[in-house]
Amino acid sequence: MSAEESLSKRRNGFFERRRKKKIWEKVVEFMDEYFPEMKELTEKSDKENVEYGFMMCESTNKLFPGRTCKGDECELDIKDCSIGKKFGNFHTHPSSIAEPSVSDVAFATLRSHKVICIGGGMGEDRKICCYYVTPEARKMKWDLVDKVERGEGHEHSPEETYEEIRCIPFR
Ligand SMILES: [Zn+2]
Repeated sequence: MSAEESLSKRRNGFFERRRKKKIWEKVVEFMDEYFPEMKELTEKSDKENVEYGFMMCESTNKLFPGRTCKGDECELDIKDCSIGKKFGNFHTHPSSIAEPSVSDVAFATLRSHKVICIGGGMGEDRKICCYYVTPEARKMKWDLVDKVERGEGHEHSPEETYEEIRCIPFR
């Protein structure tokens, strides 16, 4: 590696770490503040066997939830932020684990979402988890989209495409 390449690599690493740190802080704060709402939607989702979700929006360095979507409405597109900009999304997995599927990560990369939060699980093993969408996921974007088109969207997303920020278990 040339000196120029190694410098550029270190510079990218530095910016990526800084970007991640800011995302982490905002998401942890968001989870503290909106855990009751996410928990309620996860329970409702399981009971009714329908997906709920909302966009995570950002304004003046703070995250807040957009309007709640239900069922097919969430599959087509989680509602946009009326104020602020899109940061990520929260959605539920009725009777399924709180981990990102191929289509979750494919859609997050297509819509430039930085994070995916999922409420899911069953009975005593429920949790709300937020994941960081990695630079690797952005590189693999079109492979993931191809998988969705082949009908493999429900599969577990490859491990390098997301990183756990925080999980909060509940019953
Ligand atoms: Zn999902």
